[in-house]
Amino acid sequence: MKNETLLYDDGSHKCIMFSLEDEEHQDYSLSVNQFLIIQHESAVLIDPGSEGIFSELYDAVSAHINPQKIKYIFFSHQDPDVAGAINHWSVATSAKLVISQLWVRFMGHFGLMDMDRIIGLEDHGARIKFGNDFLQFIPAHFLHSPGNFSLYDSRSKILFSGDIGAAIASPQNLNKRVDDFEEHRPFLEGFHSRYMASNRFCRAWVECVRAYDVSTIAPQHGSLFQGENATRFLEWFEAVQGGEERCHELYGLKK
Ligand code: FE
Repeated sequence: MKNETLLYDDGSHKCIMFSLEDEEHQDYSLSVNQFLIIQHESAVLIDPGSEGIFSELYDAVSAHINPQKIKYIFFSHQDPDVAGAINHWSVATSAKLVISQLWVRFMGHFGLMDMDRIIGLEDHGARIKFGNDFLQFIPAHFLHSPGNFSLYDSRSKILFSGDIGAAIASPQNLNKRVDDFEEHRPFLEGFHSRYMASNRFCRAWVECVRAYDVSTIAPQHGSLFQGENATRFLEWFEAVQGGEERCHELYGLKK
């Protein structure tokens, strides 16, 4: 399937990336990635996206595992392209829904009825056991959302980074994997300098991430950073000048 990329498979642990577009809103949409981690008979779904792709993603997940086996659905933040179908997923599965505690009360506006299904993450994040391994929710606050997390999978060494690392380009203009960081950089710059709150948060996130052995950075939009390109991305990201650094310009004030 062309919208599906196997990121990792060691026989008992698998990570799959789906890149499903909401066709009704294609003119306005970006390339969007959704992720599934499977270990034995248990799964975690990451950033499952908007209502427009719910059925297609449900079918794509079902080809790998019974959706009833999804233990957790993780939402990196509250945006509609991340959490818009939270109610559909709550009805279609028995998974626990994991999101920053800041956004729990807002999920009702996406139609979620059963608030008891949500695990609201505290600001410092959390570690959960997953089979023999662990999943770490790493703080990514204000990058861009005030309650925001990345997810690190200790077995595959993949960091699911949400909007951090997002490339803004139509999917046809992007490779699944970044070949040359310098060529890819223009797709990153505008988005990160406008959406990320400040350089201080960028550096804090990179400091947290460097505590883990990361082989791949997998953002919710755009291309994967692997090996040397993941290192290059972290070096670039810790120097990003965000909203705080551009405050006067954004507000049209004199320095
Ligand atoms: Fe977002």
